[in-house]
Amino acid sequence: KPAPNDLSAFWMPFTANRQFKKAPRMFVAAEGMYYTTADGRQVLDGTAGLWCCNAGHKRPKIVQAIQQQAAELDYAPAFQMGHPKAFELASALRDIAPGGMDHVFFTNSGSESVETALKIALACHRARGEASRTRLVGRERGYHGVNFGGISVGGIVNNRRVFGNLLSGVDHLPHTHLPQNAFSKGQPEHGAHLADALDGLVALHGAETIAAVIVEPMAGSTGVLMPPKGYLERLREICTRHGIFLIFDEVITGFGRLGASFAAERFGVRPDMITAAKGLTNGIIPMGAVLVSAEIHDAFMNGPDHLIEFFHGYTYSGCPIASAAGLATLETYREEGLFQRAADLEAYWQEGLHSLRECPHVIDIRNMGLIGAIELQPMSGEPAKRGFSAFLNAYEAGLLVRSTGDTIALSPPLIVEKAQIDQIFETLRKVLHGLD
Ligand code: PMP
Repeated sequence: KPAPNDLSAFWMPFTANRQFKKAPRMFVAAEGMYYTTADGRQVLDGTAGLWCCNAGHKRPKIVQAIQQQAAELDYAPAFQMGHPKAFELASALRDIAPGGMDHVFFTNSGSESVETALKIALACHRARGEASRTRLVGRERGYHGVNFGGISVGGIVNNRRVFGNLLSGVDHLPHTHLPQNAFSKGQPEHGAHLADALDGLVALHGAETIAAVIVEPMAGSTGVLMPPKGYLERLREICTRHGIFLIFDEVITGFGRLGASFAAERFGVRPDMITAAKGLTNGIIPMGAVLVSAEIHDAFMNGPDHLIEFFHGYTYSGCPIASAAGLATLETYREEGLFQRAADLEAYWQEGLHSLRECPHVIDIRNMGLIGAIELQPMSGEPAKRGFSAFLNAYEAGLLVRSTGDTIALSPPLIVEKAQIDQIFETLRKVLHGLD
């Protein structure tokens, strides 16, 4: 058996890790707040895996639930048959969702949740006799996964460059995308008017052509960008006025990240649909969900079977093992009060993060709940290089952060202790002082 760092064993088959060939970095175990590397080092997890292991790693309750489910009922066919755990999980989700979001469609990932929500928006308008509403509006720097719908409404032009325009009625900036706020020093006081761009799109295209607006309430993977105060409220107001559905993509912000079950709770704004994944199963088993209001559900799901406007269901939608993992995860969040814990730690987290303000290269710092971003001045002519060096140096110093361009993103598991928060910022202070 080759050693885990022996490159020859990984010469080709796995393609997702683009940097692996240059510098193999492997985790072989994880527990609580720590990963163990292939060469036996402990690395503090400053990112909850990929914004997903909100309860920390290898939690016994979740591990046991998965093992027990696999031994008891490994799979049950969806559609004509069912199994209890999927229904229990749907109820548990409804219990923590913003009021009125009481129907759940299960998927296997964030990307699939986005596709499903976009399709629901179109199907629902159609069922209500408004088939002309086909246009989907996203936001600059929005990230909604890697599938066709998600990259179309996503605001990263590079991700869809080779595919051209993918959905009818969704084109390139600025015709179907709202502007994004970038720098903020926290949550900006001003900028709610950015939402008024939606009025501009309504004037340009006609409200009767617009099906839905999808936004991350707080854009995560493109740099942790805070919505200006009042922005989401204004967006809600404009959507309601024009009969446009508002979809919150909460794949990152869901499950306690911002100190509440969902960002919708934190900001007090109720969308028509919420997409979720990641923290739903604590990042352990692929699973996603779309939460929708009863009005939306009933508009197209209550007809006789042959008249239902929308077909949904993956082979693994709400499959037993994922459902068991999801249930044990939600129980863990509840028993340990982890959403509240994130809220309680917010001030401490903020203070530590902002203590890096005067460090070299730092040009902006943003935070909310247990998420944070340190934006660095890019090196001239070499965008993303400084951010990546920060990631590498932190990793060498025993801390996992994520670099997205020249932004260092942080989102530790919600079980993080104050001493570990101190460790995160002390490590980063040294890293920042050591950067070119
Ligand atoms: N939406 C958002 C807001 C995300 O952050 C992500 C993943 N980072 C996705 C969708 C896609 O999720 P997945 O990678 O599980 O397909």
